[in-house]
Amino acid sequence: MSYDLTEEQQMLKDTVARIAREQIAPGAEARDEEAQFPWDMVEVLRENALFGADFPEKYGGSEMGLFSLCLIIEEIAKVCASTSVVLLVHELGTTPIMLAGTDPQKDRFLPKLATGEHLVAFGLTEANAGSDVSGLKTKAAREGDDFILNGTKMFISHADIADMVCIAAKTDPSVPGHKGTSIFVVDTKTPGFGIGKHENKMGVRGSSTVEIVLEDVRVPAENILSGEGKGFPIIMKTLDLTRIPVAAQAIGIAQGALDYAVAYTKERTQFGKPIFSFQGLQWMMADMTTQVEAARQLTYKAASLFEGLPKNLDRLPTETIRYSAMAKLMASETAMKVTTDAVQLLGGYGYIKEYPVERMMRDAKITQIYEGTSQIQKVVIANTL
Ligand SMILES: Cc1cc2nc3c(=O)[nH]c(=O)nc-3n(C[C@H](O)[C@H](O)[C@H](O)COP(=O)(O)OP(=O)(O)OC[C@H]3O[C@@H](n4cnc5c(N)ncnc54)[C@H](O)[C@@H]3O)c2cc1C
Repeated sequence: MSYDLTEEQQMLKDTVARIAREQIAPGAEARDEEAQFPWDMVEVLRENALFGADFPEKYGGSEMGLFSLCLIIEEIAKVCASTSVVLLVHELGTTPIMLAGTDPQKDRFLPKLATGEHLVAFGLTEANAGSDVSGLKTKAAREGDDFILNGTKMFISHADIADMVCIAAKTDPSVPGHKGTSIFVVDTKTPGFGIGKHENKMGVRGSSTVEIVLEDVRVPAENILSGEGKGFPIIMKTLDLTRIPVAAQAIGIAQGALDYAVAYTKERTQFGKPIFSFQGLQWMMADMTTQVEAARQLTYKAASLFEGLPKNLDRLPTETIRYSAMAKLMASETAMKVTTDAVQLLGGYGYIKEYPVERMMRDAKITQIYEGTSQIQKVVIANTL
């Protein structure tokens, strides 16, 4: 049994680290400041074929798997969390199609998603349906060969720039709870598909987070995934899978902040010596590095459990659900703690925008919230016990 990255995985990690250092890091501060969607970064991801990492070769991807996607996201998040959100959201929007699409649907949607020519979003959350998705109000009413969608989605990443969005809507509002929910692949150019409020956020400011307003949006029945009322298992399995790349993002942010803080404390002198020499700070950094590595191991373990599992709607082994939630919980809590400590290690300079740990601390916060808050991860973990 080998417990290390394979030679191929190490090469991938090194290559992405170089791309991140040379092409992604330089604009990270401006992306945060300007809060504009980073199209130039989409181009970098396209040129390096990174959108297709977790797509089957059959659809034009490189079929490297979820584990490799996590390595890519971790390296990018070390220097720019906003750019890593581009790949996270792509995986989030694509996974329902991978899990539940028919062959003709996959043939239609996946090739252009694998290259990144098309971008996709995932529209689940609503004003009154966040952690509890049983409160969904968006409706899809059958009309001949089409469905007519009406409703408002909240906090949807990249819906304003995506070519398509996987939207969760109730096809049967008469049944309570999550039953009667269906998933539709909606072309964002369809008449009636509108974008409402653009959120002004604390972190990951280079990614866009918007409201979707659906007014009599006509979607062909052939765009429903897995049939009417079959949406809930697609949503749950999608989140079980995509929480792991969020954990990888959290580790990347934490490692980026830790590396910066260690280098800084070796340069900064107070009381006649580098502040790194003070044992009080050394112990903080020893804790930080231990926590990041522990979170990384849990995340890699979670990702490895999904290797080789078919992407379909079969029930996941309980262990994979538990590990995925544990990885996201541990990695996001670690990212928040480690980035906060990194700011402390820089003193007043840590609080200033000129130094990247200030941005990293703000970016870390979202990893405790999206794709299920830390509290919801505990609910998921406890349910598996
Ligand atoms: C930047 C950003 C990007 C996002 N991107 C997307 C996206 O692309 N697509 C999408 O569909 N959604 C997206 N979301 C929505 C995100 O997933 C939700 O915000 C999140 O799931 C929490 O839902 P909520 O905001 O309604 O909080 P609530 O569910 O109202 O939670 C409020 C508080 O109550 C706690 N809580 C709730 N239920 C329980 C419970 N049972 N036990 C203990 N505590 C509980 C929560 O942990 C939290 O602390 C995004 C959000 C943000 C901020």
